[in-house]
Amino acid sequence: MITTELSNVGEIIQNQREFFQTGKTKDVTFRIEQLKTLKQAIIEHEQAIVEALQADLHKPQVETYITEISVIKEIDYAIKHLQNWSKPKKASVSWDFFSYSARIYPEPLGVVLIIGPWNYPFQLIISPLIGAIAAGNCAILKPSEIASHTSDIVAKIIAKHFDPAYIAVVEGGVEASQKLLAEKFDHIFFTGGTAVGKIIMAAAAKHLTPVTLELGGKSPCIVDTDINFEHTVRRITWGKFINAGQTCIAPDYLLVNKNIKKDLIDGLAKSLKEFYGDNPVNSPDYARIISEKHFDRLVNFLKDGEVIIGGENQPSERYIAPTVIDNVSLEDPVMQEEIFGPILPIIEYTDIAEAIALINSRPKPLALYLFSQDKNLQKRVLQETSSGGVCINDTVMQVGVPSLPFGGVGDSGIGNYHGKASFDTFSHKKSVLKNSFWLDLKWRYAPYQGKLPIIKKLLG
Ligand code: NAD
Repeated sequence: MITTELSNVGEIIQNQREFFQTGKTKDVTFRIEQLKTLKQAIIEHEQAIVEALQADLHKPQVETYITEISVIKEIDYAIKHLQNWSKPKKASVSWDFFSYSARIYPEPLGVVLIIGPWNYPFQLIISPLIGAIAAGNCAILKPSEIASHTSDIVAKIIAKHFDPAYIAVVEGGVEASQKLLAEKFDHIFFTGGTAVGKIIMAAAAKHLTPVTLELGGKSPCIVDTDINFEHTVRRITWGKFINAGQTCIAPDYLLVNKNIKKDLIDGLAKSLKEFYGDNPVNSPDYARIISEKHFDRLVNFLKDGEVIIGGENQPSERYIAPTVIDNVSLEDPVMQEEIFGPILPIIEYTDIAEAIALINSRPKPLALYLFSQDKNLQKRVLQETSSGGVCINDTVMQVGVPSLPFGGVGDSGIGNYHGKASFDTFSHKKSVLKNSFWLDLKWRYAPYQGKLPIIKKLLG
């Protein structure tokens, strides 16, 4: 058995604690070596990863490279910056602390747990692991059981290249998660749905374990009239229908200026044809729905509003055509729940204030998209809405910029990662203040008599 037996969970954590105590992971050279090993391991297993994603999601090879194997770019970024990130940073002190120096030391947290989802099942378990390694932690990974082939390949790669006393994989579903969550960790990094996020946080609270919760939600996409039309429709089509819409930051629904709505619908139909041909079921470039349960959930949404593009589906293939729906009510399930599939409702607005009011009446989304060249409109939307992140005149691409922290706000999550933010997430910032012995002013020591005027002066 490659993966760790559930009954061994306690033992694995104990072994990791002992390994962590040796201090080996505190050595930055060790961490860089491990990151290099991880990169080589991914390259070595590229084909197996492509096949696993094909089996789980019918994911086209190109999409697997762009969205899963591309995680090696993040490894390179961490290797490049790690020496600098891990150095203690000087902090300033005020003039009355003139005999002191202050520094912030990043230190690893210890043994961390990373729980992944099924939609980008490789990238979303490996990307946080990069942060955990870079920051000097030991880690236990729990990939999603729903993308079972990817879970297996992750377990295989990790077992082959890492000592389980340093990094281990525990495979399984809710039972495995719960077994892990009963244990004490030094950090839990969870990617998944908001409902399960609450379960994770409640379990973590029992041990006072800090959490990062990368959750989902309904990410709106506003389309104004001041746009490059062709670029807009292509970018929306790509961001919505890549991985058959099963992307946490996919545009969930469109908020379209009334004056451009008809053209936009025609444009979407045209670009869908360009991307996937007349019948997307035959396209090698279009993924499938992960499971029967999710297929049924999505097919139910097709009852809402009026299907104006697509709508065809085949249960045996778990295929749902790229679909656009019009005339939805805000009370319809498709506008109440995160869609997480290839269905795109269109809502029109006359004044941007209506679009902003709608966004603000709902839980804060993970992403917000705005297509407009109007600088004032950009400024207004940025100022008047809150979301995990914003991408202007494109979709989904914000996830690929390591200098931008990635995470939600409110219902879409707690904390963030990518690049330096990943290192910070898995580090404790230890504040260290150092005094010297060359002077010892007595203003703070008892007896206090006569010292109040000096103290008041210092406070002033
Ligand atoms: P999920 O919440 O159902 O499952 C995620 C993980 O939690 C899995 O490993 C699963 O085994 C485990 N789990 C499920 N039920 C559990 C329970 N009761 N107790 C303990 N663990 C449990 O999420 P999913 O269906 O795999 O992924 C879809 C969701 O994830 C969507 O809402 C999507 O928006 C979100 N997501 C967010 C991001 C992000 O970066 N913010 C990325 C991808 C997906």
